[in-house]
Amino acid sequence: MTISIHGFTVSRGVAIGRAVVVASSRLDVAHYLIKPEQIDAEIERLRNARNAVIDEIGRVQQQLAAMATTDAPPELAALLDVHLLMLQDETLTNGVKHWITERHYNAEWALSTQLEVIVRQFEEMEDPYLRERKADLEQVVERMLRVMRGVASPVAAPATAQGGPLAPSADVPLVLVAHDLSPADMLQFKQSVFAGFVTDVGGKTSHTAIVARSMDIPAVVGARSASQLIRQDDWVIIDGDAGVVVVEPSPVVLAEYGFKQRQGELERERLARLRNTPAVTLDGQQIELLANIEQPEDAAAALKAGAAGVGLFRTEFLFMGRNGRLPDEQEQYEAYRRAVEGMQGRPVTIRTVDVGADKPLDRSPARAGEEHLNPALGLRAIRWSLAEPAMFLVQLRAVLRAAAHGPVHLLIPMLAHASEIRQTLALLDKARQQLDERGVAYGPLRLGAMIEVPAAALMVPVFLRHFDFLSIGTNDLIQYTLAIDRADEAVAHLYDPLHPAVLRLIASTIAQARAQGKGVSVCGEMAGDVGMTRLLLGMGLRSFSMHPSQILPVKQQILRSDTHKLEAWAQTVLDAEDPEVLIE
Ligand code: PEP
Ligand code: MG
Repeated sequence: MTISIHGFTVSRGVAIGRAVVVASSRLDVAHYLIKPEQIDAEIERLRNARNAVIDEIGRVQQQLAAMATTDAPPELAALLDVHLLMLQDETLTNGVKHWITERHYNAEWALSTQLEVIVRQFEEMEDPYLRERKADLEQVVERMLRVMRGVASPVAAPATAQGGPLAPSADVPLVLVAHDLSPADMLQFKQSVFAGFVTDVGGKTSHTAIVARSMDIPAVVGARSASQLIRQDDWVIIDGDAGVVVVEPSPVVLAEYGFKQRQGELERERLARLRNTPAVTLDGQQIELLANIEQPEDAAAALKAGAAGVGLFRTEFLFMGRNGRLPDEQEQYEAYRRAVEGMQGRPVTIRTVDVGADKPLDRSPARAGEEHLNPALGLRAIRWSLAEPAMFLVQLRAVLRAAAHGPVHLLIPMLAHASEIRQTLALLDKARQQLDERGVAYGPLRLGAMIEVPAAALMVPVFLRHFDFLSIGTNDLIQYTLAIDRADEAVAHLYDPLHPAVLRLIASTIAQARAQGKGVSVCGEMAGDVGMTRLLLGMGLRSFSMHPSQILPVKQQILRSDTHKLEAWAQTVLDAEDPEVLIE
């Protein structure tokens, strides 16, 4: 039966493929496609892991038998029997073999996929005893996954989605369906095989959505119960333009979306021709189009899209999912240097680490007793850096050193207090001094502050006194001005970039910076939204930073715009009670 699920659009385009439903707890399992000649070896790995777990259970059973009967908990013995039965059950083993042989999933992925299939069956059972066996199966599979983690796959490098040496049967595009994906998970999936993805939770500007946008694959977030409604291997259409997911479409619907998909590809090809066209408005205003990146390797996509530089390098992605072991100075320096060299002389704006809120350092849940706290209002971004000065100095030194290899701008997130500005600048001086003492070379930095808290937007003159440029982080500015958690789909309808209060803060920040001849750009998602380009131009914005995939569509808008005409119109939008009605 065909069903449609509505969520929020994240990135444009249509993806059609088979669903891979992944439980959040097993997202860190390796996902890659193997070659046909590796199937037997992969099945062998699986068999070995199963036998190892059977042996492990056998040993525990022997220990139990050796214990005095009074000491041995009787339920444990029964439970171990259940686990053994499950390991020998053909539904598990045959199912896993199916995913390896037919779909060419690696063993861990095949195992977790089959687990999802069986868990669904358990959940549908009437009998509460059988329903509870779900947890046992999960434990058994976790044991096997743990064994496999210790034994590297003979398949050296993961095959890439398209273009990889995949067998014909593995050519079926795959779409990822999950309840939630953390930004770190997304990064892991960035090089993966998926043609699109859907999550139950998340708002349009959640960090998960932002990384998805940078992957430039169709995606829908906030699709509520999608991960429950979609079954493993279902055919799924992801309409990234409309924010709709169609499950098990009829042939007519499939054909219609196939057509839409091809139209989208043609449109992209057309836009690609604008790559070398200067971004100049009809009235001759030169507009700077910069790229937002998450990893040094993204510089290639930025160049390909014709970016004039990097306007935002979100360095926190280097820090996430490392179980507390933060990157040292050398590792950070090398990463920043790669980005600088990758941009071939164009400026790279490196933002200091912005962890916290929906970008936790690792996937550990809130610490006991802190569940009631709101991390978006807590120790996040510059607050975290100033609370960890030793770590912050490491990052500052690494950025300074990278600046010896090309033009680097340093950007500080979430400043709100003059005292934070002073502390940051003092630590920067200290970092320089430390490098001097070590005799290590470093380069000059242009200094920028993000305006993403209303308090900052209301004290722009203070910021302009200390910084060379400002970068407006509209994602957070909207979140904090309207008191709407940007990652919460329940209030996503109230997350409004066109709220008059938001527009006034943006417009006044731009005007004040320009009046003093200082640089000002927008690096939040608004900058890459073609529906906002004309308004931002009308407010006087001349520098936009966005995901590389958005650069050409935004350039197209710019080429059609006349800033003289837009200025007067933008003023009417700013004065309106309901600006939305004035935006096409
Ligand atoms: C923003 O808040 O607009 C921004 C660019 O920073 P981030 O999305 O990483 O919080
Ligand atoms: Mg921000």
